[in-house]
Amino acid sequence: MPFPSLGLSAPLVRAVTERNYLAPTPVQTAAIPAILRGEDVWASAQTGSGKTAAFALPILQRLADTPRERGRFVRVLILVPTRELAAQVAAAFRVYGRHQPGPSMKILAIFGGVSINPQMMALRGGADIVVATPGRLLDLESHNALSLSAVSTLVLDEADRLFDLGFADELGRILARLPARRQNLLFSATFPPEVETLAGKLLHSPTRVAVETAPAAQPAIVQRAIEVDPPRRAQLLRHLIQTNGWTRVLVFVATKYATEHIAEKLRKAGLDASAFHGELSQGARAQALSRFKEAKVGVLVVTDLASRGIDIVRLPVVVNFDLPRSAVDYTHRIGRTGRAGESGIAVSFISAETHAHFALIEKRHNLNLPREQIPGFEPVEVEVPAPIVSPAGGGIKGKRPSKKDKLRAAAARAQKTVTSTAGASAPVGRGADPARPPSAPVNPPAGATKSSPVSTALPPRPAKPFRPLRLPFRGRLR
Ligand code: AMP
Repeated sequence: MPFPSLGLSAPLVRAVTERNYLAPTPVQTAAIPAILRGEDVWASAQTGSGKTAAFALPILQRLADTPRERGRFVRVLILVPTRELAAQVAAAFRVYGRHQPGPSMKILAIFGGVSINPQMMALRGGADIVVATPGRLLDLESHNALSLSAVSTLVLDEADRLFDLGFADELGRILARLPARRQNLLFSATFPPEVETLAGKLLHSPTRVAVETAPAAQPAIVQRAIEVDPPRRAQLLRHLIQTNGWTRVLVFVATKYATEHIAEKLRKAGLDASAFHGELSQGARAQALSRFKEAKVGVLVVTDLASRGIDIVRLPVVVNFDLPRSAVDYTHRIGRTGRAGESGIAVSFISAETHAHFALIEKRHNLNLPREQIPGFEPVEVEVPAPIVSPAGGGIKGKRPSKKDKLRAAAARAQKTVTSTAGASAPVGRGADPARPPSAPVNPPAGATKSSPVSTALPPRPAKPFRPLRLPFRGRLR
């Protein structure tokens, strides 16, 4: 279905044609006509699905029909979880609205981490469209820099992430300041209970839009799982970048410290790498991202801050240097590549210790990736016992057994082994007792020589699951 048949005006169709959008994406096909009709929309769509244009195009069209009132009023409010997403969504509105006739729309991105004064100045006389993070929006409102009493359309973009980042309170306060009559559009990749509850309160007879988001349903992304010992990951990454000629790589790690540490390691190995995380100043964050987007830097090492919403055109490779905590985060991370029909590669590094966690992520996504080993980087560490997974399907974020659970399970297994081996030959080697390293001595059977008495009465020895010895990597990257 071509764009004009969705009911969009010629200037908007011209703008998307210039962006080389040949046809609307599924979320656009479903949402645009409903938003043009003034309906509420409840869309489950992740970034990469074209969701920004799905709400931006019809909003621009509806705004063009009515002029802005005088005063501090905001006509359309879009709430987003991160500063980068605010800037990105505002920029998309400007691009899509560039050919609209009449006075140009006032589109503002508002977010914290930068001085509030320029934002207060920019808000003088109100604005047509404000794309904001919740905290700064409330700050500005409390300074009387804007009024939310005339908002005709509210968009919650990445609603699940707004809750993840702890904006529930702010959201409640903002909603209380909006007029009762308005159009509500809710976009979210997932629908945890908080988002479901919010949707129930917020939306009136919404049009439901559901777009398939499972990574398995994105054939454009080639997913690979490579086994490697943790201390050798930086070397392997460098090897992969060089042998595959990857020009731009987004590398996900678990902590802010790791972004700096790995970026530094890669720079020492001669790669052009930068770090990106939430503790950088807003200026440094914007600079790191724009240099990466403009392909001025080849490797950006990031925390999950960059896994949602950030749109990097033609990003060929994403690497999970550290695995994501949840299956949902996996989807968001790998969704940074293979955007809007492009192809991409998503590589996950798997170690003996993270093997079981990755298996759970695969299970959630109905994936079964072959495990690869790269010559020269074959792992030597041995696998730890798989975590105990509850029948309810836990095992990932929030549902994983705690360290104590694992210790208890290991102790119970050890107890069982002792009991069942009494009188039989002792189990030897890997797999005999998953709580024990392959080379560790086992309790000999009952009836063994006096010098090595056994004892089913002994307390179960391995109170702790075996973890492979981890030496900090001190070598230089070759
Ligand atoms: P989003 O899901 O809004 O973050 O968009 C992801 C990417 O898809 C952005 O780079 C958009 O420019 C691009 N995009 C949006 N709609 C289309 C379309 N109909 N055809 C091709 N690319 C699109």
